[in-house]
Amino acid sequence: MADFDKRIETLLASAGMSPDLQTGAVVPPIHLATTFEKTAAGGFHYTREANPTRQTLESVLAKIAAGTTAVAFSSGMAAAASIVGALGAGSRVVYPADVYVGVRKLLRDVAPRWGIEAHPVAFDDIENVASIVNESTLVWVETPSNPMLRITDIQAVVDMARSRGARTLVDNTWPTPLIQKPLALGVDFSLHSLTKYIAGHTDVLGGAIIAADEGPLVDAIREQQIVAGAVLDPFSSWLTLRGLRTLAVRMQVACDNADRLASFLSEDNRVARVHYPGLPTHPGRPTAEKQMSRAGAMLSFETRAGAEGAMAVAERTRVFVNATSLGGTESLLEHRASSEGPGTPTPETLIRVSVGIEHVDDLIADLDQALSAA
Ligand SMILES: *Cc1c(COP(=O)(O)O)cnc(C)c1O
Repeated sequence: MADFDKRIETLLASAGMSPDLQTGAVVPPIHLATTFEKTAAGGFHYTREANPTRQTLESVLAKIAAGTTAVAFSSGMAAAASIVGALGAGSRVVYPADVYVGVRKLLRDVAPRWGIEAHPVAFDDIENVASIVNESTLVWVETPSNPMLRITDIQAVVDMARSRGARTLVDNTWPTPLIQKPLALGVDFSLHSLTKYIAGHTDVLGGAIIAADEGPLVDAIREQQIVAGAVLDPFSSWLTLRGLRTLAVRMQVACDNADRLASFLSEDNRVARVHYPGLPTHPGRPTAEKQMSRAGAMLSFETRAGAEGAMAVAERTRVFVNATSLGGTESLLEHRASSEGPGTPTPETLIRVSVGIEHVDDLIADLDQALSAA
């Protein structure tokens, strides 16, 4: 049969599977070995440098994100630190002022120690951003943003960066490659916390960088992976492959649920504002429609009952778990400003929600009863 370009759902359903040559096992084994016989085929040497299970995951990630190569790390932050470290002294990173809190600390506090300048900016004024972008700049984008769900026009950033010889990265943790494909829009790197939707079951910590093309910066990222040593271990790599096989169905249900929940909240007069790019009133919706196939499964809302009211809602839910993080099968919510700590730009009245795959009526009923406490 002639080969054909399979759709992402098909690739995901059998991610990393090709029957084991020795046993015929359909699901691949976990290669826990740290060292490999020198004369053996396969060319593996030592697991920090390369491991068969990690390599299988990396090749699946590259494929589903429309990239050339992927590099897997022990966390999303290890992936972020590796690309920033790979840039080298004298480089510059321009990033959204409301970037994910861990990345903000990395760029604001750690990058300067490595001789890297980091500038927080507002991406709604691209002209203004352009004025500080030069050819040794990495332009860091996160869209939708966390936790305000602001949408940045990826194509506009790519065009601006290219005209100045700069490179671009999109933190694609929230939408996943199913919903948003930055590399197909000309972005150079996409970053993922695998911890979230990709592994998908709240039991793996991992991260990855996927590159559009090979090149010296990719070599430097791989060198960071191997030499700095924050590699993804074989068991986490295997669990991530298992999670990937249901990514499409999990995302579909979670997005359907988020859509319903956002409509419910937007019609509730105990709620002051709902931030969800699928709502007709969301200012980023036209751009979201251009670059996202769905509006995603993350949303946030602000209560009318002040900071204490918001905290009371988070404490009263019985289906939603009051916990940080996102992207699992279970729904989570949290009073986000408390998680981010002092100095956060996040409103004190805001609750961030990671919508899971439960029955949507139970999710709506739970928020309804919890809001009565506000
Ligand atoms: C969680 C997260 C990260 C960091 O990933 P870890 O796996 O926790 O290190 C980075 N970016 C975004 C958008 C995230 O949600």
